[in-house]
Amino acid sequence: MLTKSKYLKGLQCSRLLWKAEKKELPEISLADQHRFNQGALFEKEVHKLFKGVNLSELEFKENIDKTKELVDNKKTIFEAGFQYNDLYVRSDILEYDDGWNLYEIKSTTSVKKHHIPDLAFQKYVLKKLGIEVKKCFVLFLNKEYVKKGKIDVKQLVSKEEVTEKVNEVEIEPDKYLEVLKGSLPDMIISPNCNKPYPCPLKKECWGTLPKDNVLQLRKWQVYWKLFNSGIIEMKDVPDEGLTRTDMRIRNAAISGKVFVSKDKIKEFLDKLVFPLYHFDFETFDTAVPIYDNSRPYQKIAFQYSLHIQSDKLEHFEYLADGKKDPRIGLLKKLKNEIKGKGSVVVFNKSFEISVFKKLAEDFPSEKPWIDDVISRIIDLADVFKVYDYYNPKQKGSYSIKKVLPAITGKGYSELEIGDGAEASARYFCTYIDKSLKKDISKELLEYCCLDTEGMVLVVDELEKLK
Ligand code: SF4
Repeated sequence: MLTKSKYLKGLQCSRLLWKAEKKELPEISLADQHRFNQGALFEKEVHKLFKGVNLSELEFKENIDKTKELVDNKKTIFEAGFQYNDLYVRSDILEYDDGWNLYEIKSTTSVKKHHIPDLAFQKYVLKKLGIEVKKCFVLFLNKEYVKKGKIDVKQLVSKEEVTEKVNEVEIEPDKYLEVLKGSLPDMIISPNCNKPYPCPLKKECWGTLPKDNVLQLRKWQVYWKLFNSGIIEMKDVPDEGLTRTDMRIRNAAISGKVFVSKDKIKEFLDKLVFPLYHFDFETFDTAVPIYDNSRPYQKIAFQYSLHIQSDKLEHFEYLADGKKDPRIGLLKKLKNEIKGKGSVVVFNKSFEISVFKKLAEDFPSEKPWIDDVISRIIDLADVFKVYDYYNPKQKGSYSIKKVLPAITGKGYSELEIGDGAEASARYFCTYIDKSLKKDISKELLEYCCLDTEGMVLVVDELEKLK
């Protein structure tokens, strides 16, 4: 049976569709599960805008039969199920309003290109069953909505009609049904591996590439051109069309040597004013805001780690406890810790600055000291973004997760939490189930601490190089 979700996988890649059919996809991560849960919570809110019959709890056959009965009676339905031969869809909302309207609920903050074939596939199946859809809509999150008290669903939900775009899509179900029946399709690595979502099989497929390959270059237009022309290994990449950065990555991969621009590193280090406040936030976000003065998918800071480096090194940290707004306790503590003068060192300043700016906006009385902190921020990633230091072990990446082990030998592999997305999903688990708190809190504190401890070590290593 070709379901809507399999059809969408097929649009991304035949191999992905085939593996999904055989149930050979890796287990989804906690971070992905969190994202799906957010979608379900948003859907619940959207339902409040309609008077419909919810069939989400019904099993396959029961759902299809009940849907038929409700369609015959022109009722609005949530999770209506339709089967036509080998095709099966469940529609988020089917509404009767002098004709049938089809609504797809997406917990995104805008309508995306890939939402259109999703609706088109449903419309196709409904048409085959004799149900003519008059209009198609996407319901999504209004990113400007600010929660004040109880959720105002009308303000939270945005609506866009996409009927014309849906009508332009040609549905070719046979092509995908053939894939389901056939043998494992070839691995065709392409930009589709990343869109509309990073493919869950990426590790498996991309893991077959040579260890130094062109997909580790930075300029995607260049690396896909090379890849498609059959140039896969870094050693075969010609100079032509390479940026200075990509030239450094390629040369380091071939020579196996670290690239160091001593002058630029010195220039960067000379900007630092001691004491250094090495700082890192952890945040979580939800589709439907939980706290007053917050928006859909706003990054809510729940944790930080701070290493203050002068002639000694001190560590401070914060991890929110309980269900109340974590930002309040966090601001209170941080205000007493980042004081006086000195550079605030972060890794990738756009993230930290955007979190600080929102904190200043939502807690205006704290704005003066937050503005002072922002004005003192120096981005340690600047050295690595322009590849003034590059170790071939980084494999093209300048993230702290690659830079730290490459430059210091210390890494994240022994920690339970490997990245920020997982940290935020784990924190959210403790928000829902308090019994998990003890273990997860320890993991979160270890993880966040390593981020700032890592920055201290990286600065120390850079000092040795200048
Ligand atoms: S990683 Fe790429 S080639 Fe492999 S299954 Fe996914 S989309 Fe297809």
